[in-house]
Amino acid sequence: MILPKSNRLTPEQLGEITAIVGEFGCRIQPIIGAVRTIYAIVGDERDELMINRLEGLAYVDRIDRIQSPFKLMDKRSDLATHRIKAGGVTLGEELFVIAGACTIDPKNPNYFYETAAAVKEAGAHVLRGGVWKPRTNPYTFQGDVKSLDILMEASRRTGLPVDTEVMEDAHITLALDAGVHSLQIGARNALNYSLLRAVGRAIAERDTVVLLKRSIHMGPLSEFISAAEYIAAFGNPNVILCPRGTAPTLDGYRNHPDESITPLLKEKTWAPVVVDPSHSVGKAIYVPACALAAVAYGADGLCIEAHVNPSHGIGDDPKQAVTPDVLQEIISQAKQLWTLRRRVHQAG
Ligand code: PEP
Ligand code: MN
Repeated sequence: MILPKSNRLTPEQLGEITAIVGEFGCRIQPIIGAVRTIYAIVGDERDELMINRLEGLAYVDRIDRIQSPFKLMDKRSDLATHRIKAGGVTLGEELFVIAGACTIDPKNPNYFYETAAAVKEAGAHVLRGGVWKPRTNPYTFQGDVKSLDILMEASRRTGLPVDTEVMEDAHITLALDAGVHSLQIGARNALNYSLLRAVGRAIAERDTVVLLKRSIHMGPLSEFISAAEYIAAFGNPNVILCPRGTAPTLDGYRNHPDESITPLLKEKTWAPVVVDPSHSVGKAIYVPACALAAVAYGADGLCIEAHVNPSHGIGDDPKQAVTPDVLQEIISQAKQLWTLRRRVHQAG
């Protein structure tokens, strides 16, 4: 990672460092911050001669060498001061909430419009709504591109930014062109490296946020953080990590709740952690406890499936979605817990 003395290199200076690292088989990836730009050396950056030549340049302040498989997302990275903003919230500064339907029903758009208004009223910052759905059973509803218009109409009506899952290149283009603010990468695609790269490339020049779910069979935490690195490596590091439960081991829960990994993630990465209790426990009655547990464990936010009339919803909504009243109560209690947690941290 190259840190210049000024906030930004001139095109000539960028050309010079690009040429130097190019001689050693590396390339430069600028990471553009609001104030400062830093320059990641992508490739094997250990060559002493290359480092010496870069350090010898008058406009270079220093070179940081983090020996980490995820040097951008690592907590020791210079990006550690980077803050992700979404829905008017700077993550880490206040509890952040994404809420809305699992799946938008294109035949009954009013349910989604009503849900959108209700989750806003309950205090959510970003509205979620599934347009394209990854379904275990190939014969069930797979989503419908018509729902993208419904999602954006709900965004216009409420003023909330929106989150939706993308599974292939065409979805990325359609979602970004429509104005989707947060692209979700689902648990089934969390290790789909070509999709991660495609998302990284597509959002490189935008302020889009990515909600990266943890894979159902995700192994070590480093695998999860490295998946985020795939996206950040293209220049936009706005990746939020979203534990959502792993392969089920407890009779009764849809997945094995994994909100307890939050403090472990935070030891390794600066990335915000937004826990999804809905897919984790998979049943509306268990969602409030899981959500509060996540906040107690240090989560920066929650991603919760909610619906004005869950039994009339589609996808996961009949089973998992909480009603707006319950959502409001979760948010209210989670905010209190957030404040208590802060106090414990400050005391400790
Ligand atoms: C969803 O958010 O509706 C979803 C399918 O999530 P996951 O990828 O975590 O299963
Ligand atoms: Mn769902």
